[in-house]
Amino acid sequence: MLRTTTCGALTISNLGETVTLCGWVQKSRDLGGMTFIDIRDRYGITQLVFNMDDDQDLCKAARNLGREFVISATGMVVERSNKNLKIPTGEIEIKMTGLNVLNAAKLPPFLIEDETDGGDDLRMKYRYLDLRRNPVRNNMVLRHKMAQAVRRYLDAKDFIEVETPVLIKSTPEGARDFVVPSRMNPGEFYALPQSPQTFKQLLMVSGFDRYFQIVKCFRDEDLRADRQPEFTQIDCEMSFIEQEDILNVFEGLIRTLFKEIKGIDLPEVPRMQYSDAMRLYGSDKPDTRFGMQFTELNDVVKGKDFAVFDNAELVVGINAKGCAGYTRKQMDELTDFIRRPQIGGTGLIYMRHNEDGSLKSSVDKFYDEASLKLWAQAFNTEPGDLVLIMAGQKDKVRKQLNELRLEMGTRLGLRDKNTFSALWVLDFPLLEWDEESNRYHAMHHPFTSPKPEDIDMLDTAPGEVRANAYDMVINGTEIGGGSIRIHDRELQSLMFRHLGFSAEEAQKQFGFLMDAFEFGAPPHGGIAFGFDRLCSIFAGLDSIRDVIAFPKNNSGRDVMIDSPATIDQKQMNELKIRSVL
Ligand code: ASP
Repeated sequence: MLRTTTCGALTISNLGETVTLCGWVQKSRDLGGMTFIDIRDRYGITQLVFNMDDDQDLCKAARNLGREFVISATGMVVERSNKNLKIPTGEIEIKMTGLNVLNAAKLPPFLIEDETDGGDDLRMKYRYLDLRRNPVRNNMVLRHKMAQAVRRYLDAKDFIEVETPVLIKSTPEGARDFVVPSRMNPGEFYALPQSPQTFKQLLMVSGFDRYFQIVKCFRDEDLRADRQPEFTQIDCEMSFIEQEDILNVFEGLIRTLFKEIKGIDLPEVPRMQYSDAMRLYGSDKPDTRFGMQFTELNDVVKGKDFAVFDNAELVVGINAKGCAGYTRKQMDELTDFIRRPQIGGTGLIYMRHNEDGSLKSSVDKFYDEASLKLWAQAFNTEPGDLVLIMAGQKDKVRKQLNELRLEMGTRLGLRDKNTFSALWVLDFPLLEWDEESNRYHAMHHPFTSPKPEDIDMLDTAPGEVRANAYDMVINGTEIGGGSIRIHDRELQSLMFRHLGFSAEEAQKQFGFLMDAFEFGAPPHGGIAFGFDRLCSIFAGLDSIRDVIAFPKNNSGRDVMIDSPATIDQKQMNELKIRSVL
């Protein structure tokens, strides 16, 4: 070892010891007769002191050290006269007797400190320097701890970690695949897994009973704010279980993580039907840190000659408590908010329940006081409340009001990052109508089993069929999802037929799985958690980028290694790929 201890370990109890530390120069102060250097490593910071009176050469050498030089420093632990009680090593310093420059360093392009002056792009380009900063490294340490806790929990429950291949064939999870050309099979391509879905199901056929893997998955999607082309899942599968068992085991996992990592006793996770989530929150991933549930008003408002309401499929609103005093400007802001193109609302109607008890709406022309009293009743308003109402086509207006509800939650400070509210959303629809391709798609994936009692509706009302599928939501973010699988060849073929696959196509793409179902497939089901997202929620961060050591930027680029990049002609020739341009 080049060192006797680390830069975070020495305290007053080590006085008089001779030690050697290795690390980076955080900063230096030259006071003429004395030079102070802060040396930093992963574990902390220790102050080194060089005295002109003791050793002139050594002191001069110290003065020549630049920021981020890598040094080894030997000396004796002494008590500091000027103590810094904010850091564990703040009561001591090292009186230097020896100094070795292990490597000089260029001046870093930004400050390697908790608060840095480096912009996003610069920090990404020099990510290895950014990772030297405490807040960034701490996120990685948190991630490590979470991964270990996941392994401990699942191992104790008899799950076996199995690695599944990375070079595979398409998995139909609904996104585009990344593909890799095969040199040995010209014209043919591997796909990178969007998830190990089919492999984990095959492991159940193999009798592994309980599988997990903390695994990289790849999806070639248009990047939205919080997406990465490669991301990590905690992927799990179990045999001989029912939905209830999965919910219990994995609720246990999440509660254990909260307890072990954050010291938080997460209460039992409530459960909500998908249909209720949509009705009460307009979202399949409601943020349940606050109430403000939707109230539907069709029965209360129709028939008063107000065309906007009369012509709407759904009139629905929320009660923003304590907002009756919103100014004209604030109301305009809300209207502008819902009119943003990405939200697409047309108008916002409101009713104030004023402090003096009077009711005042933006559509007084159509609704008299008696009518407004009915509104107030429906929303259970109190003086000081503001009711916000939207109208339109059911699915659209729910989505829009969901956005407004979240905005109001933020404005009212109801979405605190240190408050955690988890929720199971159950009984998702099996199929989802896709406007673009004009046919049904599997909402989760094609291996999800329909609820047995709904199977008959596959022909008559496919959109109504519910699936044995579940999501876990924390603070309005979907952090995990899974389903009970189909394990019967006939039902799987029927499913493919309903998804528009011909028998030949289904056999060609998924023959291996359907064949396996004929060799004794146990009933099974599973779930996968988005590990990056879970870490970012635990870290109180908005972006998953901050919990990934080497993330890609918003255009899917790694600006540090400059990837993706072109390959040279020789490689192209080997792969039998002609220039695409
Ligand atoms: N493979 C699924 C996904 O990635 C999860 C599952 O069904 O277990 O969403």
